[in-house]
Amino acid sequence: MRTKQGFAGAIGHTPLIRLACLSAETGCDILAKAEFMNPGGSVKDRAALAIILDAERSGRLRPGGTVVEGTAGNTGIGLAHLCAARGYRCVIVIPDTQSEEKFAMLRTLGAEVRPVKAVPYADENNYQKVAGRLAQELPNAIWAQQFDNLANRQAHYQHTGPEIWHDCEGRIDAFTCATGTGGTLAGVARYLKEQRPATRIVLADPYGSALYSWIKHGELKSEGSSISEGIGNSRVTANLQDTPIDDALRIDDRTCVQMVYRLLREEGLYVGGSSGINVAAAVELARQMGPGHTIATLLCDRGATYAARLFNPEWLAQKNLL
Ligand code: PMP
Repeated sequence: MRTKQGFAGAIGHTPLIRLACLSAETGCDILAKAEFMNPGGSVKDRAALAIILDAERSGRLRPGGTVVEGTAGNTGIGLAHLCAARGYRCVIVIPDTQSEEKFAMLRTLGAEVRPVKAVPYADENNYQKVAGRLAQELPNAIWAQQFDNLANRQAHYQHTGPEIWHDCEGRIDAFTCATGTGGTLAGVARYLKEQRPATRIVLADPYGSALYSWIKHGELKSEGSSISEGIGNSRVTANLQDTPIDDALRIDDRTCVQMVYRLLREEGLYVGGSSGINVAAAVELARQMGPGHTIATLLCDRGATYAARLFNPEWLAQKNLL
């Protein structure tokens, strides 16, 4: 029998999809790894599993223990699934700006959801710091600490990167994606550069994030804002540190929304905003590099998570993005 062991066993080995219309338009192979097909619906299932396995192996997480995390949503959803399957209590601290669907999903999965005001990282009441304190206060609890826990990027170095390399049979010229914790970009970039140092690694960044200016000019400076969720950062996390990144692209909300709808209407793919940014960056990279190249990126999560926002014309009109 070729069965998978439970929820955890079903994570990963997602298909690498060639985007037909965008490939034809650019003359490049635009490949997108369908991370929305993970059982919890996003790329973050991988980090959640790696963090839990690491905590179990080290003995920090014991039977009946509690997993606490500060998350914009998808990591919390992955953790909540895994905690339910492994008998852990799950406590999620989440900024109140995240989509309603994420809150509802977390509660349905049995997580205790603690919404906090969205404040900058420097503030003591930032969701990540609240989660860290909570994990110290609760008995038998660990803080998943996805931003600085290197088990996160290790998941992508051990799995996501090799899966991409294997599925394109080593023919890859560039990889681009947006980052939140930095785990995906760091792990995939490291693995791909080791296989073929000439592979171009390009960060895709939304407005409101400081990482674009960090790559371009060496200083963490942000301008503007974005409707995208779960990506961008004001700091260089432990996961992102020392990642071999060649260049950065900044993608605005209008370009992101247009790409999300092109993916829906032309490719039949229903994905979230960060996927729109990733594919828009891949297409921009194809234009820069010229025809004949292979460029890979990720489709991070499902569009259904953003039904009331990105896929709601009234909401888009309010944001002047219709
Ligand atoms: N896209 C979405 C929708 C996410 O939730 C996240 C993680 N917050 C990312 C992209 C970025 O992934 P990473 O944390 O590995 O940088």
